[in-house]
Amino acid sequence: MLWRLLPGRCVLCQGHGDQAMDLCRACAADLRPNVGACPRCAIPTPVREGTCPACQVAPPPYARAVVPYLYVPPLTRLIHGLKHGNGLIEARILATLMRDALASDDPPNLILPVPLTYRRRVQRGYNQAALLAAQIARQVGVPVAYRGLKRIRHATPQRSLDAAARRRNLSGAYRAYRDFSGKDIAVVDDVMTTGATAAEISLTLLDAGATTVRVWAAARTQR
Ligand SMILES: [Zn+2]
Ligand SMILES: [Zn+2]
Repeated sequence: MLWRLLPGRCVLCQGHGDQAMDLCRACAADLRPNVGACPRCAIPTPVREGTCPACQVAPPPYARAVVPYLYVPPLTRLIHGLKHGNGLIEARILATLMRDALASDDPPNLILPVPLTYRRRVQRGYNQAALLAAQIARQVGVPVAYRGLKRIRHATPQRSLDAAARRRNLSGAYRAYRDFSGKDIAVVDDVMTTGATAAEISLTLLDAGATTVRVWAAARTQR
């Protein structure tokens, strides 16, 4: 197939893509890695040893969060494309960008994309976290649980709420529809914001028998 031999186009600048990633070297170099983040919640606060102060006071129910990039331009444009284009090219790029960070984490038994509400999925036509999870699963060689966890409530948009209100807002928002007994699960999302979603999903999965839950996301917001 000839098209496979041609270099891809960079989705950010339309220049020549690199390494069949549809992203050029220059644009890839503009992405800001989330270095020195808290190993537990991935917040980009420099942590000297152990975890960040918030995790020391109240450790989240997920064991750790691997989130290799910061949610700043130009990566924000990749996320926008993942959510509002048809998302496949961006999902492939993001999974490729995450590859090294995920390869140094222990492989989970199961990958589980953060589910959208039914309404949001119908509006968008797809779940962007599921697209990303599918690409990651191909790299890691682990199955994806596309069903089994549902968002059952359409809560107030999280954007307008502070961290404590986000947690209350999401309480009981997810329900497990299968047994996750003995599973070590990686929850996949595109952007990790406060971690409230990850925390609520983790509680739901641990309740349904999961042994551990960790978070794999492409990008972390600054706070
Ligand atoms: Zn470029
Ligand atoms: Zn932390």
